[in-house]
Amino acid sequence: MNEWSKVRAPTKGAAHAIGGYSAGCLEGGAALPLAGTGFRVARPERNRVFGHPILIALLRELGLETKKLRLPPLVIGDLSQPRGGPAPTGHASHQSGLDVDVWFLPPAGKTTVSMVDAARAQPVARFDAAIARLLELFASQTQVERLFVNPVLKRALCERAGDEPHRAWLHKVRPWWGHDDHFHVRLSCPPDSPACLAQAALPPGDGCGELDWWFNAKAQEDRAREHQSYSARVGAAATLPEGCGAVLAAP
Ligand SMILES: [Zn+2]
Repeated sequence: MNEWSKVRAPTKGAAHAIGGYSAGCLEGGAALPLAGTGFRVARPERNRVFGHPILIALLRELGLETKKLRLPPLVIGDLSQPRGGPAPTGHASHQSGLDVDVWFLPPAGKTTVSMVDAARAQPVARFDAAIARLLELFASQTQVERLFVNPVLKRALCERAGDEPHRAWLHKVRPWWGHDDHFHVRLSCPPDSPACLAQAALPPGDGCGELDWWFNAKAQEDRAREHQSYSARVGAAATLPEGCGAVLAAP
């Protein structure tokens, strides 16, 4: 537990995402219902169902869309804590109410379903067209800034897209460590949140030609070093922006 995880409810009033995705907080957060048309929350006991109202509205809308497209219901993982802020376990980001994890397939208790056959560095057969369609659906939303998936999955999506014209959405799908049993969705800073810190813009293009670093044997040491520094960042306590003190202390 930390002070942010002990708070049980959002602050009242207008919504603002404050600070960065990995060092921020959320004012006036909204809660995603535990179930609705086309979606359900996988682990409600974690109490990480809070987000900027734009994120909550988007998930509800995509639940409806999922149903319309006859895709399986969305299985929602963590959003943010009631007032955002650093979580005692799990991830470094999800702090400002603009991040959400979505499971590829429903977890069974603590057991999750990986989409990656690590030994072969290939996706498993269950990583099928319906899952690719789901990723495309999220990536095609204007509010969505980027998605994170395992590099093996990004590569597979690139290969499957071939030279079809509708592959621009791959631009927002970014390779990252982990993310083999869920994908991570990140929204852009909403217009109502002047203190929200954007990330550096994504490089142009679909990124399919820049995956070599993840698989190249020669980059092995480089990858290990990067992973170590990433893990250190994830483990380090973030310095939150000034506005977050008041958010935490509010009644
Ligand atoms: Zn995440």
